[in-house]
Amino acid sequence: MGNLSVGMAFALLLLTASFAPAASAAVLEVSDFDFNGPLGSEGATIEKVGHNHFLVTLSHAPNQPNWANMAQFRIVRNAKGNALRMDVQFTSEKPLYLFDDYFYSYSTDGSRWKPVLWEQKRNGKFNTLLFPPFDRDTVEVGHQVPMSHRTALALIQGWSQSPYVKVEEIGRSLLGRRPLYRVRITDDSSPHPASKRWVHYIGNEHPGEHNAQWRIVGMVEWLLSDEGRDARQRSIFYITLMMSPDAPSKGWYRVNAQGVDMNRSYHVKGANAATQAHESYVRQKALEDLMASDTPVTTYWAMHTWTGIVEPIIRGAGPEFGARLGPWEKLRDIIEALDTNDLIKPLKLKPVAGEELLWSAAPHSQFGITAVLVEGASVHYQKEQNLEAGRVLIQGITQFYSGLRVE
Ligand SMILES: [Zn+2]
Repeated sequence: MGNLSVGMAFALLLLTASFAPAASAAVLEVSDFDFNGPLGSEGATIEKVGHNHFLVTLSHAPNQPNWANMAQFRIVRNAKGNALRMDVQFTSEKPLYLFDDYFYSYSTDGSRWKPVLWEQKRNGKFNTLLFPPFDRDTVEVGHQVPMSHRTALALIQGWSQSPYVKVEEIGRSLLGRRPLYRVRITDDSSPHPASKRWVHYIGNEHPGEHNAQWRIVGMVEWLLSDEGRDARQRSIFYITLMMSPDAPSKGWYRVNAQGVDMNRSYHVKGANAATQAHESYVRQKALEDLMASDTPVTTYWAMHTWTGIVEPIIRGAGPEFGARLGPWEKLRDIIEALDTNDLIKPLKLKPVAGEELLWSAAPHSQFGITAVLVEGASVHYQKEQNLEAGRVLIQGITQFYSGLRVE
């Protein structure tokens, strides 16, 4: 009996040894990938081409055959311990707005993002992401430092708990009937009447420019902090965190469900429901109502991303520059002094030249108010850098816009 027991134990050991590795390191299969999550890529297809090596073929934005959807996806199981090679292709002959213009990020917990850079420089047709072995079974991958609409809603919900925040639903998105929120931040108990305060409107047009959205988050967080007290008392801030909330789950970089570029959708002659892209119409109409109220907007800040560090550009200077508050260079110098980590290029002046469809310029054309385009941040791979750039800009705005709009 003794010998038999040893033999059985040995057999069990062999069984254990042969099964254990397979149970703890399943290789990735096509069925482990999902392109329809909160960060998705509409119409993408995937095939396996080797061990933990896949090829994704991207589809394109609605009505824009040369505009690739971003290569966003999630791994729903089996990721732990696996390194992933993800080849990505877009088969358009003339790709415009490339899927690989910017870095991507991945997260295994949905909040801490690590950058992942393309193996080749921007190409637009074929490129590769290499991921080190994942530390958990589920992974999300998205454009820049991603922000799903679900995350945007959670942020807005959190802000809404502040006594200084009113969340206004100005409409619904075309495809998902998602709320189009405009967040209003001010201190209603301030001694200064609302009608005398400066009014700054900060918006994101391109839904896939997530670094710009995190920059806005940095602005809001500063405004709601103790440091933002003076700003809240003398000013009113309006925030649109995501103009096209249908986009992140589809991987649309610039558009709404109509395939209209959200920053080529302003109608300088006036908002028009019949001819204008839906979400843009809703937002411009609400802006026009604001302009007709006793708290008209002083500045419009269009938050975008582009190559390099953050790059603010005045596209039209309103009447407050000059004798009232000083030259625009004063605002430049204030921001420069605050930008101790050199995240932001010196503010430039590049006046509007007939660009009447651009949210980043046309509010100046329509109303004569200050319009500022803020580009850049393609090299800011960390969420914190984008938050900090936002904090610097909002502090600069608060310092330059001293006193009250109506003294
Ligand atoms: Zn943009």
